[in-house]
Amino acid sequence: MKLGQKLLISFTVSCAAFSLLGGCCSDKGAENLKSENAELKKKEAALQEENARLKEENASLKDEKAAAEVSDFYGDCKSNLRNIGIACEMYATDNRGAYPRSLQQLQPEYLKLLPQCPSAEADTYSDSYEFSSEPDVFTVYCKGSSHASHAENYPQYTSLLGIIEDK
Ligand SMILES: [Zn+2]
Repeated sequence: MKLGQKLLISFTVSCAAFSLLGGCCSDKGAENLKSENAELKKKEAALQEENARLKEENASLKDEKAAAEVSDFYGDCKSNLRNIGIACEMYATDNRGAYPRSLQQLQPEYLKLLPQCPSAEADTYSDSYEFSSEPDVFTVYCKGSSHASHAENYPQYTSLLGIIEDK
């Protein structure tokens, strides 16, 4: 027998024994699992990437909102409304609990000047002021859409609730 023949026979025999033991099949199964696993890992990595991207996007949106709130003077407008509210209360204390009929009545004793919404650069409050007696209540708000990051006619102030924010 030539060497080549011997090798061929031993190869055939060992291959047959291998497949009898189920080696080929289980090997294929393992191969499949490996590629499935690799596929899942790829998907996981893609999801993690997406997640990181979304987190970043969310953070930058929050920054944008915070920046918008600063740049459109929403906080300053709320301070104006608080000052108007306090002036109305002082007026009421001096007038048997009755609120002024208009904000102009606050000048100059309770407010030197009626404030201006710093975003609108105008008095956006006088036109919105409403009051009633028995029960004595009033509401006042920044009329219009002067604050880009907030709803129209906000912020608001009422004698019952103080500052009211948009949703
Ligand atoms: Zn305003």
